[in-house]
Amino acid sequence: MIRPSRPAPHLFKHWSRVAACVHGSRRIILFLDFDGTLVRIAPRPNQVRLAPGARRVLGRLARHPRVTVAVISGRRRGELTRHVAIRNVHYLGLYGWERNNRSSLSASASSAIKRARGVLSRHLAGYPRVWIEDKGNSLSVHLLAAKPEIQRRVRQRIRSSLRALRKTLRIFENLRDIEIVPLAIRDKGSAVRVFLSKVRFPHAFPIYFGDDLSDEPAFAAVGRGISILVGKARRTRARFRLRGPAEVAAALSRLEAALA
Ligand SMILES: [Mg+2]
Repeated sequence: MIRPSRPAPHLFKHWSRVAACVHGSRRIILFLDFDGTLVRIAPRPNQVRLAPGARRVLGRLARHPRVTVAVISGRRRGELTRHVAIRNVHYLGLYGWERNNRSSLSASASSAIKRARGVLSRHLAGYPRVWIEDKGNSLSVHLLAAKPEIQRRVRQRIRSSLRALRKTLRIFENLRDIEIVPLAIRDKGSAVRVFLSKVRFPHAFPIYFGDDLSDEPAFAAVGRGISILVGKARRTRARFRLRGPAEVAAALSRLEAALA
C-alpha cells in the first residue's frame, strides 16, 4: 500500500499555477471519483444526487475537444452510468476493472465472493447498523451508521473472518465501508495507469479528484499531473485539497475557464 505523506494545501490557493498547466496542455484527462467527490455522501448509496450545476459543467467538459473525462468508482459501472448520465464520459466501475459491458469474472472469483458473503453474514449478524451490499462481483460492508468503536471492531472481524480466502479475494479499506473484491480487481492506481497507457494522447495532462483511502494509489499514479483530495484534511499523497463536492464543481468551472 502507498503510504500517505503529508496534508495538502487548498487547491484554490495555488490556482494560478494549476490554471497555467491546464492552459498550456493540449489534452487534459480528468479523472473523478464519484461518492464523496462528485456527490455528497447519503445514508444509502442509491440516495445520492449529482447537483444540476455540477452536471452541466461536467457535460460541457466531456464535450470539450481538449478534455477526456473518466468517472472511476467502486460502484458497478451500470449504476455509475445511471447516476451520472452524461454522454462522452468514460465510466470505470469496480475500481476501474469494469471498463465496458463485457467485463466478466472467472467462476472461481464469483464463488469466492459468494463464500465471503456467507462468512460475513454470519460474523456480522450481531451488528444491526452494519449492512452488506452484494454487488454481484464484489461486496461492500457499509459502516457509516455504526459508532467509531463498532466500526473498528467490524473491520477487525472482517479481516480475520476472511483470512482463509485471501488467495482469491482482496480487501479495500475505505473511510465509510470495506470492499471485498476478487483478486483480479486491482486498485484505482492500476486503473489510472492502464487508462493513461491506452489513450491516444501520450502527452496528456492528468488530473485526479478523489476523497477516499482507495483514491490514494490513484493520486500517486497521476505522477506529474495534479491530484486533489476532497474532504477533511488528512495525510495524503494528493498535492492539493478541496472541502467537498460543491468545491469540486467550482474547480471544474475554473478548469473550463482555464481552457479558454
Ligand atoms: Mg469516494
